Amino acid sequence: MAEIVILRLGHRKNRDKRVTTHVFLAARALGARGGILSGERDDAVLESVRKVAEKWGGRFSIRYEGSLRKAVRWAKKNGFAVVHLTMYGERIQEKIAAVRKRRKVLVVVGAEKVPAEVYGLADFNIAVTSQPHSEVAALAVFLHEYFGGRELGARFPGARIAISPSERGKSVRKWKE
Ligand code: SAM
Repeated sequence: MAEIVILRLGHRKNRDKRVTTHVFLAARALGARGGILSGERDDAVLESVRKVAEKWGGRFSIRYEGSLRKAVRWAKKNGFAVVHLTMYGERIQEKIAAVRKRRKVLVVVGAEKVPAEVYGLADFNIAVTSQPHSEVAALAVFLHEYFGGRELGARFPGARIAISPSERGKSVRKWKE
């Protein structure tokens, strides 16, 4: 089973709370196993992602690491390929087969300004189109391409709440703790 961890760079407490939370929630829903928050420490983001993971099940852990280099060093030491998502990178459709050969991947996404050293630290600089857009969109497309759609059927064991898909309305199952 693949192990994908997301490194969110350059988080700013005042401006990025919502987008950073969405990065991790999208990552979790689409098959990633963990997240690393970098930039400003923000316990509210860590807490809200942990709460979702606890309630909705599955295995997703999140932690803070202020140093980008330390996070990358940890990943490389543990056998992860480092994939930096950037509009300046190589086309995802041409590189995804090579990335898929790696079962452990650290996916790096930026906020406003990405330090130049990231391009050199990465094993792959990958573009999801060469147009500027969003870290959430880039990450979602990357995970979908990496897993080839299998992530859409992912299970979330240990959930306290789950949705039963329905044509209309809301069908929700809840279990006692
Ligand atoms: N201008 C910033 C920079 O220094 O590169 C990037 C800003 S963008 C709002 C935030 C993040 O979204 C980027 O760091 C990248 O991870 C992701 N992103 C945006 N467009 C992308 C694209 N076309 N392909 C891949 N990733 C993208």
